[in-house]
Amino acid sequence: MAAARLRCLISYGRSSPNGNEEGLFYALDLGGTNFRCLRVQLGGKERRVVKREAVEISIPPHLMVGGSDELFDFIAEELAKFVATEGEDFHLSEGRQREFGFTFSFPVRQTSIASGTLIKWTKGFNIDEMLGQDVVAELTKAMERKGLDMRVAALVNDTIGTLAGGRYHDDDVIAAVILGTGSNAAYVESVLAIPKWQGLLPKSGEMVINMEWGNFFSSHLPLTEHDHALDAESLNPGEQIFEKLFSGMYLGEIVRRALLQMAEEAAFFGDAVPLKLRVPYVLRTPVVSAMHHDMSSNLNIVGKKLEEILGITSSIDTRKLVVEVCDIITKRGARLAAAGIFAILKKLERHKASVDKPRTVIAIDGALFEHYTIFNKVLQSTLGELLGEEASDSIIVKLAHDGSGIGAALLAATNSHHIGL
Ligand code: ADP
Ligand code: MG
Repeated sequence: MAAARLRCLISYGRSSPNGNEEGLFYALDLGGTNFRCLRVQLGGKERRVVKREAVEISIPPHLMVGGSDELFDFIAEELAKFVATEGEDFHLSEGRQREFGFTFSFPVRQTSIASGTLIKWTKGFNIDEMLGQDVVAELTKAMERKGLDMRVAALVNDTIGTLAGGRYHDDDVIAAVILGTGSNAAYVESVLAIPKWQGLLPKSGEMVINMEWGNFFSSHLPLTEHDHALDAESLNPGEQIFEKLFSGMYLGEIVRRALLQMAEEAAFFGDAVPLKLRVPYVLRTPVVSAMHHDMSSNLNIVGKKLEEILGITSSIDTRKLVVEVCDIITKRGARLAAAGIFAILKKLERHKASVDKPRTVIAIDGALFEHYTIFNKVLQSTLGELLGEEASDSIIVKLAHDGSGIGAALLAATNSHHIGL
């Protein structure tokens, strides 16, 4: 990967969680499809996460491509509603302001632990006036407009949140990968390996690299005509090519394009091309997943989905081929994601069995990995294939459910205004 176009962003952080954090902290996680509000009561070294509560809110599509104030007003309002439901088992120490970690999972130029400017939008968002703006300042203004008295203590993205959350529970976590609407990864690197870093060296001798791997591109990537067309017609042509090969936002769309070609060139669904098959993004990844996992003898689920979503009446042979298309596209994606993880392990020289490093853990967050079982299994088996039998025993891939949210709350706690006061 080193020779290819891969932008590395270095994440700031005054310190990382060490387990001593205490008190009530919030997180706001804006990932792509939904955003999550979360609160955790941290109980220090012994009790860790005493209690947590979360809500998930889907973002109305018009707000993804509208104005900046509209999006942030909506988020601030939903956050205020969530804060209003805080029960008695959560305790904010007297005189303290509520603080939260803001997980904003888009490429950002981070200027301090709690500020950063947006470089570009991805994953279906496109609000031009936000480019170059400080996302924390925009959110803070929206909270003021809504009368919500809260402070952003840390700005992170989902990879950094997942890594911090993962390490809080397990010291052997060395990397975090997001497989959700989009895809990205972060890992822990020795500062000596980061010539780009000009600032003070952290005492630990380590830093976190947010790879922004969704934007990885190489001429070796196996791009088909469908990938090229999907990219050309997307909101961000030429960008996020790796992400567009397998993340949740795009898998279904690749399948749709392949089926459309079969319909047009081989009358796969009969003489007429089904009209609905021409609608971009009509076939969502969860539907592809449901069809792919259909174990019934006459593929009832496939038949039902084709009928419901595309208006297609299908024979059993047609259904079988549809499943095969889902299989080819999903397996390609899972294998590419596994190759990305293997690249991190190789960079860190953790890809070979070693007595000094008996355990290496990768924390993965995202609904694609969590719910798409075949994708998950193929990713793990491919990683095993790349590592070989001996080394794969020491590599553990672990689901970090809502890791990005918990991690952001932890980072808020570690970087709280009140720490050390
Ligand atoms: P985000 O990346 O926005 O934080 P999530 O981790 O919730 O979001 O992932 C959302 C993505 O996961 C969606 O784009 C969807 O394609 C995919 N997804 C959700 N449920 C499933 C499922 N059952 N099977 C496959 N993919 C799913
Ligand atoms: Mg997420």
